[in-house]
Amino acid sequence: MNNAFYEKMKKIRAFLLDLDGTVYIEGELIGDMKNTLRAIRESGRKIVYLTNNSSKTGETYVERLKKIGIWDERDTVYTSGDATVALLKSRYAGKRVYLMGTQKLREEFLREGIVLDDENPEITVISYDTEINYEKLCKVALFLKRGTTYIATHPDVNCPAKEVDVPDIGSYMKMFEASTGRLPDVIVGKPYRFMGEGIKELTGCEEDQLVMVGDRLYTDIRFGLNNSFTTVLVLSGETTEKMYSESGMKADIVLNSLNDILPYLR
Ligand SMILES: [Mg+2]
Repeated sequence: MNNAFYEKMKKIRAFLLDLDGTVYIEGELIGDMKNTLRAIRESGRKIVYLTNNSSKTGETYVERLKKIGIWDERDTVYTSGDATVALLKSRYAGKRVYLMGTQKLREEFLREGIVLDDENPEITVISYDTEINYEKLCKVALFLKRGTTYIATHPDVNCPAKEVDVPDIGSYMKMFEASTGRLPDVIVGKPYRFMGEGIKELTGCEEDQLVMVGDRLYTDIRFGLNNSFTTVLVLSGETTEKMYSESGMKADIVLNSLNDILPYLR
């Protein structure tokens, strides 16, 4: 039992959970995750599933979580796309936006009242567009060269996939940098602060009432640290103990998996 962590846990009102490597691995639940998630809810705390993947909307994740039997109506899914919408509404209200994104994300932006403009935007947003084509690339290049505000939904270079990790938005950024010389003015998702601000707004919680749980040091744990949230590193995914000790980063606690949180919920 880590007493300092136990004391911090007393204040926690919401769990921010990474998915792959934390809750499941390639769709398979880690240990008795159903029971662990139930225990978190029963302790009176909210669960927010947090993902940088902006190619899918929250609804798509809800369907996936239902399928593997862990969805509960009290839970929330929050994507870097949601955080980008929150940012556009709060800081760039009413501005015309060009979105390089999937049809699903486009629909989500429109539903949220974001003004999309494919000809004369003031802001260019790039996301993890798995439906990318040459016309879209040329539009982004044009709008960046015109000097529009440049926003990226998140920074990941690759997205984990079965055979080989596939190019994510960070790879698109490199291409646009080569073509236009520009880097994003704002990057929204983990590990940056904009997603943290969105989460605070969503949950109504202060920093010390939020705990970030994840398996990746440079996104999940860095995200928690950047936002002054409590942090839990789980060794059920990407990070090994050796990687952790060499990183120089300090999480509030390191657990073999999220299932080991149970004693701290009391
Ligand atoms: Mg992960």
